[in-house]
Amino acid sequence: MSSSDVRDVVIIGSGPAGLTAAIYTARASLEPLVIEGEPSSTSDQPGGQLMLTTEVENFPGFPEGIMGPELMMNFRAQAARFGAEIITEKVTRVDFSSRPFGVWIGDPDAAEPTFRSRSIIVSTGAQSLMLGLEDEHRLIGHGVSTCATCDGFFFRDQHIAVVGGGDSAIEEATFLSKFAASVTIIHRRDELRASKIMQDRAFANEKISFMWDSVVTGLQGETSLQGVEVEHLPTGERTVHPFTGLFVAIGHKPNTDLFAGQLDMHPNGYLDTVPGTSRTNVDGVFACGDVQDSTYRQAITAAGSGCMAAIDAERWLEAQH
Ligand code: FAD
Repeated sequence: MSSSDVRDVVIIGSGPAGLTAAIYTARASLEPLVIEGEPSSTSDQPGGQLMLTTEVENFPGFPEGIMGPELMMNFRAQAARFGAEIITEKVTRVDFSSRPFGVWIGDPDAAEPTFRSRSIIVSTGAQSLMLGLEDEHRLIGHGVSTCATCDGFFFRDQHIAVVGGGDSAIEEATFLSKFAASVTIIHRRDELRASKIMQDRAFANEKISFMWDSVVTGLQGETSLQGVEVEHLPTGERTVHPFTGLFVAIGHKPNTDLFAGQLDMHPNGYLDTVPGTSRTNVDGVFACGDVQDSTYRQAITAAGSGCMAAIDAERWLEAQH
């Protein structure tokens, strides 16, 4: 491999963060390579999480809203227009122990990496943990959601449910109670894991009620959610409830397995970045989007941090000369 085979920037992931980083680095003449993932599983989805949804109403610049997949096709076309190279592959291994960094696609045991790069932008995103029900992926964006901030507005005056018992479930339920006619929290135990202050807020909220010791066992509806089947664990009794919205709030998993032992992570698996920057603990490796953000998890914040990573990488590369 000659030094001309060494890229300036390889971007891993093609959600709003990765493709924004691609637009910026391409316009800075860094000829980025974007490894966008493969359409094979939920963690690995070219275009990222917005490919799983329907209407996006909160991305600035689209006063009438835009469909998630269309928005991501626009991001991709914009990156390609400035010369970003985009390949539909999955990264199977990285080596950040020496520079230039190594990136493998295909056989992770291959002796030589597929690509070498002076800098890397990690934008592999995160996934919402799901219930594992047959119909939930079909009904995502059609009544089933994993994001109250994104979708709460669509459920005005409806009877909806939230699954989960931790802080984020209670936060989502409290937020949703501003829009919905009622919010039922379905929780597998008989007490919440959420902090006391969150619990008190939920118990005091007249719109919020609870189904304890219960799990969701089925979803009904052809084109949109019309009913939710719930099993009461102590009795095994199953009942169907006419909820038209179901928010799954049982946690998120950042896609960071690939970087274990190489990049510093928070105990929850999210990558650590130096506050106010996209820098990781490895010089020349930058991270942006949901893979390093367990707080905001929005397309616009992911895109914003993708811009930060591109500028950080560009300046870092410049300083190496
Ligand atoms: P992601 O979008 O998660 O993209 C990750 C990318 O990494 C993917 O391209 C994937 O293929 C790639 N990848 C992962 N592993 C590998 C690998 N090993 N090799 C190569 N590539 C890899 N936000 C809003 O602002 N508004 C909304 O209305 C909204 N609605 C949503 C609806 C749903 C159903 C969901 C799930 C999320 C929604 N969000 C919404 C949140 C938003 O989608 C995310 O915050 C945003 O997509 C995060 O962008 P990202 O680029 O960090 O990561």
